[in-house]
Amino acid sequence: MHNFRWIFILYILANIYAMKKFIFIIISSFSISSLSCQVHSHGAQPINYPNIEGYITLKTDLHQHTVFSDGNVWPNIRVMEALRENLDAISLTEHLEYQPHITDIPHPDRNRSYELALQEAKEHDLLIIPGSEITRSVPVGHSNALFISDANKLMAKDALTPFKEAKKQNAFVFWNHPAWHAQSPTGNPILSNFQKELIKNKELNGIEVINSINYSDEALTLALENNLTIMGTSDIHGLIDWNYTEKGLHRPITLVFAKEKSIESLREALFDGRTVAVYNALLVGKPEFLNPLIQASIQVKKATYISETQILEVLLENVSSSDLLFENEMPYTFYDSSPVFEIPAGGSYTLSVKTLEKLQTLNLKLTALGAYTAPKQHPVIEWKIQLD
Ligand SMILES: [Zn+2]
Ligand SMILES: [Zn+2]
Repeated sequence: MHNFRWIFILYILANIYAMKKFIFIIISSFSISSLSCQVHSHGAQPINYPNIEGYITLKTDLHQHTVFSDGNVWPNIRVMEALRENLDAISLTEHLEYQPHITDIPHPDRNRSYELALQEAKEHDLLIIPGSEITRSVPVGHSNALFISDANKLMAKDALTPFKEAKKQNAFVFWNHPAWHAQSPTGNPILSNFQKELIKNKELNGIEVINSINYSDEALTLALENNLTIMGTSDIHGLIDWNYTEKGLHRPITLVFAKEKSIESLREALFDGRTVAVYNALLVGKPEFLNPLIQASIQVKKATYISETQILEVLLENVSSSDLLFENEMPYTFYDSSPVFEIPAGGSYTLSVKTLEKLQTLNLKLTALGAYTAPKQHPVIEWKIQLD
């Protein structure tokens, strides 16, 4: 009997404990969910862009640093940041010639950062591209060599050897931050004779039009004039969270239109110039890729006339991670909206179009004001909408 009483007491205590735990779980899950609501706009959000016809859209950041050059984090952090933002490919492009942490990390192998990232990414569907930053003052400037087989062989005293070696390793090479004021005080890129020679020899294949928070119209002009692939990168040294996420922003990226998600396919697409550089609402690329990207980013969810009227309501959804700003290019005006309107990233917008008569089809025609195919040039996009 005595024993039973103890068992009973223990049973009660266990129940109270379980109940407390249960209440605690309810409280904690409540606070976690309310917290996640609170930080919704600031927490890391996956980056999404639709595929375009014939290609899949790879989200890449191919210019980043870690403690193996002048960055402030270990390579595995870069992998985790990329996974949080749903990227498809990254490259840790350490400066070959600049290692301020050398006394703490005296690692002579310039491939080490890549190897550590590869190790971290092996359980995930993230491509790690071997790359290095060839670091020289002007007129050579800084350039990233991607898809290299051995970074150590790019080390040299002279400026030309790294580019010759990169070519030998079938690397894709692009000009970094061409508008950087430390190398060009006007903030405008200056294409040097050295670089012109590289371009002629196909040893310089791309150019950053967006580097961290900087966009250069002039770099875009250089890209178009010299048939260089248009690139956008974060060139991150600190944390993506600090520089972008906590401000409600995404890092700059390059969307690469590849036949499949593989390193070889990505390489082929970069050499072929199939890219759009993106920094939040800013999209920069050749019309053959930028136009279908914006086309696919806006989906028509519904189009019906308000009863007994000639006012057509069109529900548009933006499936991309860019806020898209449009201007009306149709002969029709809107009933209750400015000719300029924004469809937020991942959000929707209802346009009320005064078509004056009931139409069978509507050619929705809009200028994408945040997108550039050349300086001061926006693409005009059309959606053919069938009406019942
Ligand atoms: Zn640099
Ligand atoms: Zn850099």
